[in-house]
Parts: sequence; structure tokens; C-alpha cells
Amino acid sequence: KKITIAIDGFSSCGKSTMAKDLAKEIGYIYIDSGAMYRAVTLYCIEHNLFGPDGEIKTDELKQDIDKIHISFRLDPVTSLPRTCLNGNDVEERIRTLEVSSKVSPIATLGFVREALVRQQQELGKEKGIVMDGRDIGTTVFPDAELKIFVTASPAIRAQRRYDELRAKGQPASYEDILHNVEERDRIDQSREVSPLRKADDAILLDNSHMTITEQKEWLINQFKR
Ligand code: C5P
Repeated sequence: KKITIAIDGFSSCGKSTMAKDLAKEIGYIYIDSGAMYRAVTLYCIEHNLFGPDGEIKTDELKQDIDKIHISFRLDPVTSLPRTCLNGNDVEERIRTLEVSSKVSPIATLGFVREALVRQQQELGKEKGIVMDGRDIGTTVFPDAELKIFVTASPAIRAQRRYDELRAKGQPASYEDILHNVEERDRIDQSREVSPLRKADDAILLDNSHMTITEQKEWLINQFKR
């Protein structure tokens, strides 16, 4: 019998790597909810919905929110999902530091969360999914059978994101990345609508000093229990 698996936690703590690995291992579908908030942010950048001081043109975004359709297309080579915004593949464009620095304020908006949570619940109607994010265990799937909450020290998370961006040929300064990670944590934890927090029934994992292989094994063991 297939279940729903919710993996939440802080920014850049390796949730998506863990979730992808697990989904692949057990033949589940992986859904990256953060990619959906990132896609809405990219839409705002491309449609000039940020003002000169970075403020969001909330009324205009509210008018457009039903025009923003996010879907996932399986990459034929890696069989990993690629994020599409209104039918266009935006997988690379949503991973820049510019999007990372603008996404958390977008994710505080109640009407944005409502629209995306609805789409996420639709995607999760069939069991057999692993979804990662900030509010999956608390809000999107409060009845998920397995909930994990991942954390790691900010310095280690920033180092991982630094290495990842360099490997992708998008180098950024360590200081900027650390600032971004800490700032997203702060906004995600203090927003009014579904703030980032561990669900009472989630299992806590601090992966600061674990290798990717160790994390993967730990997670598979949780699934098997
Ligand atoms: O997971 P990722 O870092 O790509 O998510 C980008 C941002 O989207 C987070 O920093 C957070 O502000 C927001 N987010 C959210 N709820 C989710 C997933 C992501 O608020 N379920």
C-alpha cells in the first residue's frame, strides 16, 4: 500500500536530494513544492510585478494568480521532474540567487499559498508521492503517514548551496548565500500563514554531519519501519 511522505525543513538543507533519492528508490513520484513558489516568483520578475524597491505589486499578482499554471515534466534522461511555468520549462531559471532572494516574501502571501496548496493537494491525490517543502506535514498533507523535518547549521547549508551553484556554473559569494539562507529562514518562520515549523508527529533529522549516502539510508530506514 502506497503512502504520502512529507519532507519539510530549512532552506538548503538537502531536503530535495533526500526526497528525490527516496522517491527513486521506492518508485514514488517526487514533487518539489518550493519549485512552485520559485515559478510564481519568476513570473513576477518577468511580468514586472516587483517595484523599484523590491516591493511586490500585490494587487496585480492577485489578478494574475489564476493565470499562473505550474506543471512538472519528466526529464527523459534523468526521469526527474522539470518545472514548467505556463507550459515553458523554467527548471534552470528558477534556481538563480535572484529568485532565491525574492521567493520568501512571495511565499508569505496568503492568496499565493492558497493557490499553490490547492495544486499540491491535487498532485497528491494519488498516494505514492514524496513532497518536500516547508508546510507539507503541517498544512498540505497533515495526514501524511511519514513526516520528516530536516535541519542543519546555517554555515553548513550555505556551504552546500555554494558548492552546488559553483558546480552549475553560477558562482555566487559565500557571504551572499549565507545571508540568503538566514533571511529565508527568518521570513519562513515568522510569516503569518503556515509558518515553517516541525509538525508534532514529524521525525527530526539534523543532517549537518551526514553524507548524502547516510541521509539516504536513514530515510529509507524510516520508510521501512
Ligand atoms: O525549497 P526551496 O528552497 O526551493 O523553496 C523556496 C522558497 O519557497 C522557500 O524559501 C520558502 O520561502 C518557500 N516555500 C514555502 N512553502 C513550501 C515550499 C517553499 O513557503 N512548501
